[in-house]
This record gives sequence, structure tokens and C-alpha cells, in this order.
Amino acid sequence: MSEQNTADKIFDVFVIGGGVNGCGIARDAVGRGYSVHLAEMNDLASGTSSKATKLIHGGLRYLEYYEFRLVREALTEREIVWRNAPHLVHPLRFVLPYFKGLRPAWMLRIGLFLYDYIGGRKKLPPTRTLDLRHDEAGKPLKPIFSKAFEYSDCWVNDARFVALNARDAADRGAVVRTRCKVVEARRDGGQWRIRLQDQMTWAENEVRAKLIVNAAGPWVDSVMEKVLSHNEPHQVRLVQGSHIIVPKLFDHDRCYIFQNPDGRIIFAIPYEDEFTLIGTTDQDYKSDPAKVAITPEETDYLCKAASEYFAKEITPADIVWTYSGVRPLYDDHASAAQAATRDYVIKEELIDGVPLINIFGGKITTYRRLSESILEHVEKTLGARGKPWTAEAPLPGGDMPNADLDAFIRSLLARKPFLSPALARRLAKAYGTRALLFLKDANSMADLGRDFGKGLTAAEIDYLVAQEWAVSAEDILWRRSKLGLHLPPEVAGEISAYLAAKQTATVLQ
Ligand code: FAD
Repeated sequence: MSEQNTADKIFDVFVIGGGVNGCGIARDAVGRGYSVHLAEMNDLASGTSSKATKLIHGGLRYLEYYEFRLVREALTEREIVWRNAPHLVHPLRFVLPYFKGLRPAWMLRIGLFLYDYIGGRKKLPPTRTLDLRHDEAGKPLKPIFSKAFEYSDCWVNDARFVALNARDAADRGAVVRTRCKVVEARRDGGQWRIRLQDQMTWAENEVRAKLIVNAAGPWVDSVMEKVLSHNEPHQVRLVQGSHIIVPKLFDHDRCYIFQNPDGRIIFAIPYEDEFTLIGTTDQDYKSDPAKVAITPEETDYLCKAASEYFAKEITPADIVWTYSGVRPLYDDHASAAQAATRDYVIKEELIDGVPLINIFGGKITTYRRLSESILEHVEKTLGARGKPWTAEAPLPGGDMPNADLDAFIRSLLARKPFLSPALARRLAKAYGTRALLFLKDANSMADLGRDFGKGLTAAEIDYLVAQEWAVSAEDILWRRSKLGLHLPPEVAGEISAYLAAKQTATVLQ
């Protein structure tokens, strides 16, 4: 939809923020028949939604804080999200070593019993006990660990998950604009007049809407204050969490959950075939969320905590990449950052008679349920239009028979035998059935154009630009994929040059 058309129109719902919550809400709302406009000031998932530990989980730890509502809802969501995005979400087994002096075995057993049974688990296997002296999971650990519990959760490719929620919202008619900052929203005649600024051209335009959903994550308070001129007392608690990535520490496909003497836990997760992802930390954060970065104390903490368990010592010299994010938690005035509620809080209000909905907290895991709750508020204000529908609707590319990823990879290889098994797997896990949109009539790798390395071809980049709002090399190498981990740094420059040439060719046409 052109800017001229958006200027003439009054949207039902305007969403600020292209993270998992904003994109999930836009998708749900447009699918019910509301007209929707979403604006993201940077790239999709460039905020917290690409900085997670990437677990679709109930949060075993949250049981200790009596967050039963959250844990039950999150556990139930696991299999729904897995079924709807079998390319992006995968079951994962978690190995929790028992260590005398930390949480007692009876407490872990009760917690895992609850975890197995309160959330409607159907396909994920239940908890079992491991003898680490004989199980492969014991091999990379210090010999003092002889017993462990193993339970189920899932893992998600978080940044792609967001992009595909946005893709589905746009396919259903939502306007999704990235690099588009909401700079001001005024109340005028019972509507919102929203001023948008293109972050690449600095051009401004105005959009009108009946209702605003403030899904700005860590920026939720600052949007209220600076964009909506609505000075509410501070409601978000920003909590930094960081991860380190090291060359892979073990060969099996399970993940570890390690307890630390300070009561916190960290995960060590197989990552991108060649690496292990270790995280996370919890510390209050007071600065600009866009500038968050791992601190030396966090690096030290993660290396030491992992080295307590792994036979091989992990040092800062092993680290190949790090990333940090800011949790936009609802400020429930808990004393420690790790104790602040992970549940989401929705605050609806009328400002001068015009509706605004603010979101605090939440998990990627529960984004779909959060969206349904937001839609209940939207319905009350704008009138009902359609029913909840997202539980049964695959995300783009997730429409594979029986949600069977392995069978889909085999069928992709049969249709496109020129793909190496590794590339077929990467493409299937990233795009699902939509991989065929850019593989189309190709009969050889040469048909896909220039190969920038690891099978990242011009055809794939063109697809990401046309269909997934990719604008820069960083979008492509670090969010639409994690190829940045595998390719030499100079490839970023080559992709930038390719994108610039493409842009020039479009302008000259
Ligand atoms: P964001 O993803 O931050 O999106 C908000 C967006 O709003 C941003 O992209 C920002 O650019 C945009 N924006 C802000 N202001 C404006 C404006 N004026 N105009 C336009 N756009 C604007 N959850 C799980 O389920 N599992 C996990 O394992 C997990 N691990 C985590 C680990 C860490 C370290 C962290 C930090 C979080 C973790 N989470 C996890 C939580 C989860 O990542 C977040 O709850 C979720 O990503 C929040 O999404 P959001 O859409 O609310 O915010």
C-alpha cells in the first residue's frame, strides 16, 4: 500500500514495534478482519526478539517463583508453536545434572513431575533419569557428575520466527513498514494521528488509526513519554541478559541446564552445528536498550559457571561471538532482577477518549497467547470481528505434511538434487516450504546466481529483500540467517555492494 493510500485511510489498529509481540498481534488482528499498520524503527526482531536464549519453554525455574499461570500457558504453547512452525521450532531434550549441595533431588523430581503434567504435553517425551557415567551426555562433563534428569522443551529460530509472523500479517493485508520510526502520536477527533519518519530517507508521513498497541518492548515507557506525550510513572524493568558462543563443546544434540550456587541457571545449547551457545545472565539495565552489550563481568560469570560443569575449561579466549538483549519486564518491584516476573502485563487506557494498549514483559513462547489477549481488548473497543484462529494456522513455510521436517528435507533433496544435504537442511529449516519460491525452476547452483559462501546465493538474498524486509548485510547475515557466524567478515561488504547495485538498478529502471 502506498503512502498516499495509507494517508487516506483510518486503520483500526496501529502497532508500534516489529518484535515478536508486535508482529504476532498484527498477524492475529489482520487475520480477524481488522485493518492493521505496523511500524518498526529498525529491522524486524532487531530489539529483544533476536537476543533470546531461543527456548520455547515453560520455564522450569519459574516454578520456584510460583508463576504457575505462566508456566502452564507456556508449556501448552510449546506443541502448538512447534506444530505451526516445524521448520523453525524443534524439540530439544534438556540434561539437568544433579549436584549435592544445590537443589535437592526430591525438589528437582517434583518440579519436573509438575512440568511434565501441568501443560498438556502430548508429543514431547517425558522426563527420565540419566546415569551420566554411562550416558553420552556425561562425557563432556567433569566426572563428579554422575546423575542427571532429562526433560523436554523446544528451541526456536527467534529472528526468523518474527520475520515470518510479519510475512503472514502482510500476506493477509497488514501494512508492515520497517526502518520507520513512530516519532509522534496525537489525539485528534477521537483518533490517533501518527507521525512516521523513514529512517533511511528521513521523509515523514502521517497515518490515522482508531487504536494504538504499544509493543515497543524495552522502549515501551519511552514511547509513552516521548511519542504519546503520556507521562505515566515508570512501569518497565529493564533486565540485561547476555550469551556467549564458543566452538562446540559436545557432539550430541541435547542441551544442558546447569544450576549455579547463586540460585541462577544457565543453558549450554548446541548452536548452528559448529558451536555451543551459553547463557544467560540477569542484571538490571539503565541505559539505551539499543546500546546493550556484554560486560566483562558477564563474560567472566558465564565462562566460570560453564567451567564448573564441563571438563574443558571455558575462557574468554574461546568466545567467537556474543550477544546481549534487554528484557522489558513489568516492574513488580521484586528485589533481584532474576526474581522479576516473566509474565506479561497488558495495560489498556483511554487517553482523551482514544484507546491505547501497552504491553510489558512476555516471552517468545507465549507471544501467540499474548496476541489473543490483546485482541480481546481490541474487540471490546472496536467490536468483534472473527474468532481466535492462530492456534491452527501454520506460519509461512510451516505447511509441510504432518509437520515432518525430516521428510520435507528428503523431498526437497529429491526435487532439487543439486543442493548439498547441508544446504537443503539449512534452507528447509529457515524457509520451510517457501524455499521453493526462490529455488523455483533452478536445476543447478549456477541457476541461483552468485554464491556468497555456504550456499547463500543471489536468489536467496533477492528473496529476503523482496519478501522479508531485508535491507542490509547485517539483516541477512545476523537475523534472517546466522551465516555471519560461518562466513568471513569481508562477505558483509560484498553483500552490501550487491544490495547497493541492486538498489541502483531499481532506481534506474
Ligand atoms: P522487542 O523484540 O524488543 O520489539 C520491540 C520493537 O519495538 C523493537 O524492534 C524496536 O526497534 C521497536 N520500537 C521501539 N520504539 C519504536 C518506535 N518509536 N517506532 C517504531 N518501532 C519502535 N523468551 C522466550 O520465550 N524464551 C527464551 O529463551 C527467552 N530468553 C531470553 C533471553 C534474554 C537474554 C532476553 C533478553 C529475553 C529472553 N526472552 C525469552 C524474552 C523474549 O525475548 C522477549 O520477551 C520478547 O522478545 C519481547 O518481544 P517484544 O516484541 O515485546 O520486544
